Amino acid sequence: MREREINKPMRNSRQRAAILEVLKSTKSHPTADWIYEKVREKIPNISLGTVYRNLAVLKEMGKIMELKCGEKCSRYDGNPENHYHFICVNCGQVFDVEGVEVNKKIDQEVSEKNRWEVFHHCMEFYGLCSECSKKNV
Ligand code: ZN
Ligand code: MN
Repeated sequence: MREREINKPMRNSRQRAAILEVLKSTKSHPTADWIYEKVREKIPNISLGTVYRNLAVLKEMGKIMELKCGEKCSRYDGNPENHYHFICVNCGQVFDVEGVEVNKKIDQEVSEKNRWEVFHHCMEFYGLCSECSKKNV
């Protein structure tokens, strides 16, 4: 029992590091299920619940971002800095918007016109990715 208590923080940090590594290694904004499958290659006995718990902790620590894409699924992003996303309505892929900076002025404008304290905003664009638009769907 005591041994288990001593080993637990070590095991937790190893699992958390593996999850973070998987997430940092992809630009696909994966779901928890996808992350789970990948992490299992390194830690075969990890459970999906543990993956979810660690994703929540990493999010709390500000190391990752959770993206809500509709009500059905959550996706995760290894880049915790605010940036915009594009979601393809046909294939469902989530991309980082390139070449457009986060508009900080809009925070100020919303703040001034409504007398709120604005911390940040999220922006998602919807449409067809270049592959899907080539296929003429
Ligand atoms: Zn697409
Ligand atoms: Mn992203």
